[in-house]
Amino acid sequence: MAEWELILTGTGTSHGNPPWGNPNMWSNDPRDHRRRSGAILKGPGGEVILIDAGPDLMHQLRDPYKRTKMYEYPTDCICRCDGVLITHDHADHCHGLNDLRHLNRLMGSEIPLYAHESHLNTLLQMFPYCFRDAHAVYEMSSPALRAIPIKDGENFNICGIDVQSFYMSHGPAGRTSGFRLGKLAYLTDLKEIPEETLETVLNDIEVLVIDMLRDETHETHLNWEEAETLIQRIKPLTCYLVHMGYEVCHSEWLDRLPDNIIMSYDGLSVQVQL
Ligand SMILES: [Zn+2]
Ligand SMILES: [Zn+2]
Repeated sequence: MAEWELILTGTGTSHGNPPWGNPNMWSNDPRDHRRRSGAILKGPGGEVILIDAGPDLMHQLRDPYKRTKMYEYPTDCICRCDGVLITHDHADHCHGLNDLRHLNRLMGSEIPLYAHESHLNTLLQMFPYCFRDAHAVYEMSSPALRAIPIKDGENFNICGIDVQSFYMSHGPAGRTSGFRLGKLAYLTDLKEIPEETLETVLNDIEVLVIDMLRDETHETHLNWEEAETLIQRIKPLTCYLVHMGYEVCHSEWLDRLPDNIIMSYDGLSVQVQL
């Protein structure tokens, strides 16, 4: 086990927030300005694992903590990637795939991308030029990705870390892959988790990252009540809420949440044992 850093680089729902065109939905609180979904894991030896590659990926790689002043050089920028874990094929989780080409350019090598076969098939159809012969693609300055299909319940290894992936229901929107890395669990875009997974995979979790769209019920995402029920079941030491809608105003939730449940914001950094 080693200490890694988890950076929650994108904590907003699919359209990002706050939405424009309706001043009543706006917020002047920087914590309510959320990029689309994503996270970065940084290892003790400089290793980098990405979870998802959404439409704001370039900004997440360039300024993961969202603290660079405009036009300043971003000294915290991400310059390598040892693997990408894709939770599912929705636009807000993978349509930034093309932005990985700059990391290929900096590294001079291909990047392994892990996804469930059904999601991988979509990505291969959508971005065929990213998965062609790595050398030829790199010469053309296109992304050079190596597709690695993963099965539910299968364990695999990235940077010496044992990763478990498992099925989660996204309601009528299909399926998502959840990930467990060490004592960290990353569960986004879900409506239900099979009982067996709760018992056999999501036990002894220290840090839980979980989908929580808003108070109101939604067909494909957990609302607060549903997320709270799952958190009480999983019993992590600390839990971070992500994938929030514009209805969630950060400041209003600070008094609502218990000490071990944190309302995330873009750039939040957490130490995890992996
Ligand atoms: Zn999403
Ligand atoms: Zn989704």
